[in-house]
Amino acid sequence: MDTRAKKRVERACKEVENLRELHDKNNPLNKSHICGAKTRQGNPCRKPPLNGRTRCRLHGALSPSDKEHYNFKSGKFTKEAFLERKKQNLSYIFFKALIDLENEIIRNS
Ligand SMILES: [Zn+2]
Repeated sequence: MDTRAKKRVERACKEVENLRELHDKNNPLNKSHICGAKTRQGNPCRKPPLNGRTRCRLHGALSPSDKEHYNFKSGKFTKEAFLERKKQNLSYIFFKALIDLENEIIRNS
């Protein structure tokens, strides 16, 4: 495998690791106990978020989100759709590297 392909695979591996960390519910960094929205004073809001939400009631927890939002159209740009596209791109990179490796083995034998 050439160095460029190796680098591509390494980068993809790192990206997978990052995605795993980002969506790990046991990761203490992902559990927020404060709202964190920017206040008019410029510092983060210290109120606790509402149940199942990431913001407090003053900073958007009461307004509709996701599919209930009045601007929701196709879901093409939701977090899930974005992750799905990312996964497809990563699997393409791994698959291509595998094919390159196979071709190299065939060429050398
Ligand atoms: Zn808040």
